Amino acid sequence: MKCTNTVCNPVRTAIRIRPFITYSRGGFCVSVEGEKGVRLINPFVNKEATDFEMYASFGSDASQDDVFSKEVASLLPELFQGTNITILAYGTTESGKTYTMQGTTVSSRGSSENLGIIPRAVTQILERKTRNTSLSVSYMEIYNEKVYDLLQTRTSQIELVVREDVSQNIFIDGLQELPIRNIKEFNEIYKIGHKNRKSNASKIDSRSSRSHATLTVKVQRKIEGQLLSSQLVLVDLAGSEAAIHMTESADINRSLFTLRRVLSPLNGDISNSKVITALNRPGTRVPYGDSTLTRILRDSLGGNSLSLLIAHVSQDIKHYVDTLNTLNFAARSK
Ligand code: ADP
Ligand code: MG
Repeated sequence: MKCTNTVCNPVRTAIRIRPFITYSRGGFCVSVEGEKGVRLINPFVNKEATDFEMYASFGSDASQDDVFSKEVASLLPELFQGTNITILAYGTTESGKTYTMQGTTVSSRGSSENLGIIPRAVTQILERKTRNTSLSVSYMEIYNEKVYDLLQTRTSQIELVVREDVSQNIFIDGLQELPIRNIKEFNEIYKIGHKNRKSNASKIDSRSSRSHATLTVKVQRKIEGQLLSSQLVLVDLAGSEAAIHMTESADINRSLFTLRRVLSPLNGDISNSKVITALNRPGTRVPYGDSTLTRILRDSLGGNSLSLLIAHVSQDIKHYVDTLNTLNFAARSK
């Protein structure tokens, strides 16, 4: 991690509560309290309430635009200053991760109010881009610790290798980076990735809930002959149920398990809004190298990057235990 000064950026954690999709007999167990608070009611113990504080909290009535304009839009200008930005969607399967990142429609037709962070962010970046800026997109899937290109047109799957270049930058050998000049070009590329992810998922049951989909927008600016490069990384994580009951040896989802370990020291201690990461504490090792996802994200989390983790929960009382697990994980940045 390239964080040389004593104050590093923490990973901001927001929470989003998914509305009921079907009628629930038991009612809800979690609600938003103010701008940052979340209250969880324990249905098993006297309806005992526990309050959590997040960087931001979004209730079941929050719109796609609320999430984007409150937490994402203000980060994007930093990309043009050379800062890496990473947004991760965390939560169990069906908690709303894909809804937040992608939305319900991938095509440029359909209702635009349901569009998720990916199409909104790309639109804003394209609007801000000047003549000396070039943009490119890559889209990969990490499944069972292996990396696959979601933009490949071949039918057979080729496993890609994660490497480090001479300047110790991580790259994925053979991953396509396709240039985009306008939203139409982006939508065409994105549709291919979406189709590939769906077809991978139909080959192996539960693959889409166990894989991480990572879309990267690379921004390159030429300023006085110098090339300034940064990237926006948008990750739709595997369902967090895969990481909860896991020991380090059981390799169900090493990437998610390691991400949880990496994030907790990065969230560090926050006192007087000063954040000191674990890297500044002697003897603490941040285990980026232990999994494929964290290796790829090494330079995109904490340090001098801006990162936002949006943790998703269902409000239904029957998901109380999952919700508790997610809140305990996400509230560590408090
Ligand atoms: P995940 O990707 O975490 O498995 P999804 O994003 O696929 O979950 O969400 C599960 C279902 O709930 C989908 O049908 C999705 O459209 C719907 N959904 C999720 N979040 C919301 C929301 N905030 N508002 C309305 N519908 C939502
Ligand atoms: Mg999903």
